[in-house]
Amino acid sequence: MTIFEKIIAREIPAKIIFEDDDVIAFHDVDPKAPAHVLVVPKRVIPRLAEAEDSDQLLLGKLILVAAKVARDLGMSESGYRLVINSGPDAGESVPHLHVHLLGKRSLGWPPG
Ligand code: AMP
Repeated sequence: MTIFEKIIAREIPAKIIFEDDDVIAFHDVDPKAPAHVLVVPKRVIPRLAEAEDSDQLLLGKLILVAAKVARDLGMSESGYRLVINSGPDAGESVPHLHVHLLGKRSLGWPPG
C-alpha cells in the first residue's frame, strides 16, 4: 500500500479538505508554500507516465478538484501552481499519482 492509500483507508491521519468517490485532497505534511495541498485519485495510478487514455476523466477531475480547493482556500485571485512530479528527475517520492497545489506566496519560475 502507498502512504496515500493508507490515508484514504484512514490508517494514518491527514488533514483532509476534500473527498468524494474518486478523489481525496489533504494538506502536505511537509509544505513547500503556505498553502500546499495534494490532490490524489483513490484509484492508484503510479505516476503520470503510466496513465492511459482510459484515465482521461479522472485526470481532468484532479485538476478541477485542485481548482475548487484553491477557490475554497481563497487563492483564485492571487494565483497558485499545480505540479505533477513523474519519475526520478522530477523528484517523485510517492508512487501514487498526485497533483501538488501550491499557493499563498509568490512562486519562482522556472522551478528548480
Ligand atoms: P512527490 O515528491 O511529488 O512524490 O510528492 C510527495 C509528497 O507527499 C511530498 O510533498 C511529501 O511531503 C508528501 N507526503 C509524504 N507523506 C505524507 C503524509 N503522510 N501526509 C501528507 N503528505 C505527505
